[in-house]
Amino acid sequence: MANYLRNLQPIPKPTKVRGINKTKINAEANLRLDKIYENYPSFCELKFTGCNNLFIARAHRKKRRFYKTVEELASFYETVLACEHCHTILDDRSQTTQEESDAIFKRLRAKA
Ligand SMILES: [Zn+2]
Repeated sequence: MANYLRNLQPIPKPTKVRGINKTKINAEANLRLDKIYENYPSFCELKFTGCNNLFIARAHRKKRRFYKTVEELASFYETVLACEHCHTILDDRSQTTQEESDAIFKRLRAKA
């Protein structure tokens, strides 16, 4: 390839969550998280009052719209496994504030 053509190649940018490919970005993040959690025991880590350990899924520390990159969205430190009951409580800001969510994640995902 001629040099002048090579110079026309676009410079890769960090994958943004906002924009036209939000669905693709969520799908990519989910694939990465599937791999991270592949061998992780499937139980609710939140254990709020009334926890029933049913319908375990990944819960994020904050709302999806606040994540700017796939890397952040697909981070082990930004996710926990939660039953449907606890997931609802975590996501409901009238029941769990962002500060409380941050504290829970700090406890469950403390970096050594
Ligand atoms: Zn639970």
